Amino acid sequence: MTGSSAVGPHPFETGLEPGPANHVPLSPVSFLARAAAAQGGAVAVVDGARRITYAELHARCRRLAAALAAWGIGRLDTVAILSGNTPEMIEAHFAVPMLGAVLNPLNTRLDAATLAASLAHGGARLLVVDADYAALAAEALAHEALAGTGAEIRVVAAGAAIGLPPGTRAYEDLIAAGDPDFACPGPADEWQSLCLLYTSGTTGDPKGAVYSHRGAYLQALGNALAFGLAQDSVYLWTLPMFHCNGWSYPWAVVAAGGTQVCLRKVDPAAIFRLVAEHRVTHLCGAPIVLAMLVNAPPEVRVPFAQTVRCATGGAAPPSTTLRDMEALGFRVTHLYGATESYGPATLCLPGPDWAELDPETRYGRMARQGAALPTLEAVRVVDPETRAPVPRDGAHVGEIVLRGNTVMKGYLKNSAATQAALGDGWYRTGDLAVWHPDGAVEIKDRAKDIIISGGENISSLEIEEVLTRHPAVMLAAVVAKPDPTWGETPCAFLELKPGAAASAPEILDFCRARLARFKLPRSILFGPLPKTATGKIQKFVLRERARAGEGPDG
Ligand code: ADP
Repeated sequence: MTGSSAVGPHPFETGLEPGPANHVPLSPVSFLARAAAAQGGAVAVVDGARRITYAELHARCRRLAAALAAWGIGRLDTVAILSGNTPEMIEAHFAVPMLGAVLNPLNTRLDAATLAASLAHGGARLLVVDADYAALAAEALAHEALAGTGAEIRVVAAGAAIGLPPGTRAYEDLIAAGDPDFACPGPADEWQSLCLLYTSGTTGDPKGAVYSHRGAYLQALGNALAFGLAQDSVYLWTLPMFHCNGWSYPWAVVAAGGTQVCLRKVDPAAIFRLVAEHRVTHLCGAPIVLAMLVNAPPEVRVPFAQTVRCATGGAAPPSTTLRDMEALGFRVTHLYGATESYGPATLCLPGPDWAELDPETRYGRMARQGAALPTLEAVRVVDPETRAPVPRDGAHVGEIVLRGNTVMKGYLKNSAATQAALGDGWYRTGDLAVWHPDGAVEIKDRAKDIIISGGENISSLEIEEVLTRHPAVMLAAVVAKPDPTWGETPCAFLELKPGAAASAPEILDFCRARLARFKLPRSILFGPLPKTATGKIQKFVLRERARAGEGPDG
């Protein structure tokens, strides 16, 4: 008898239904219960002299969840948090989803008006405030953008926060009051919303990307695998945790059973000291953080014996930064992604021929954005018009699109933007790239950043890459400047290394030897560059200044 002639349901489809024994909603919250059970005495979090074991972390998170539940916070309530990289921030990443509530980490470098607008848009019911940001939070809570909405936001203060509204409760009081054995409801299903993250607004108005428990679970495992996290990993917080949940590492490190070391402010001296002191094995940071490390004065560069893996992304890392980091003893992994893809979506994998490549070529390869993380379904480069994949020839430029379980659910209360981003079955990144024969994508520009001069497309990244090879240049940003003859011409803004000097003609000579004539910057301006909280250069600000003929700092 063959299967095809049998009547009734197929044996593989009957009596094999999912049940509690074999089907549990995927949620990153479960990593903590498992780590506490498996290695309760191991150190989960280091903060200055403080140590929190996995057993303690689990109990504290359950206590916090219990206290919040007793205070009326429950399923799908938005819990915002305004904090640096603190233990409370890590705890919130578990305690809030344990309740089935939605965590909304806020960017600490935003102004009060924007924060108030985010709190109103996200429907925050509770705000956890770290003492360092108490004044900013108080201003945001009192702001008219919030006052007019009639929203009632409960406030929890971590540390000695002063100036917050009456009725504010102390974080440690809540922890003390909560039941450590609280039976956390968790998510009802894995598609339930877990987090709300506003995009940093590099190219326009911030939008609120919504993540699911399932997506965060997979993203954390994908990153733990790609970055080689294990039980003996020591992860230093040099990336803001409010940015795409710190690329999922509050969960990824717990999944691996490693240790997280808190750091409130990116300061090269503190980073080198902590790396040596705690034998840090992993850290992440935007290219600008790496630039700060390689340009740190020699006296703060404490030597360390271990190999430190450093993942970078969020903006294109210049190949010189990659080279200089390796010279300092860091092993660099290049990642690419967006808020909409829970942070990292691709990573640049070393090719089999890398060992034989000359250093300049190899660092050029490392600057490519690479191929999909194991937990992303697919990445493609497609023709902007036909939406068909471009040839994998390293020459055709198209848009990067992503598909898989680690793409956001959509934007909160913005179906038009959700449709535009996800509607054709792929997430449209707006990043222009070529696709190489080995499967790696290489970004040429953001669609909005490309410069069109005399009908030719010029990649701002290509010019920036050349400019950062000049020994005096620390950061470079190139934008389009309107031009009556050419339409647009490249305008370069340069931030020089501390103590370094260079003139515009000298920089131009340097570029002449390395760039086609039509790509040469027509204007070169010097000064500190405006950056977002995540260390990205605000090109829209520079475009305005280029238009107005102003210097970088206005
Ligand atoms: P925003 O869009 O407001 O800047 P995101 O953090 O979501 O906020 O930024 C995602 C974008 O950052 C990507 O679409 C891409 O343009 C840029 N980006 C991220 N990683 C890289 C990288 N490794 N190389 C080049 N660009 C990157």
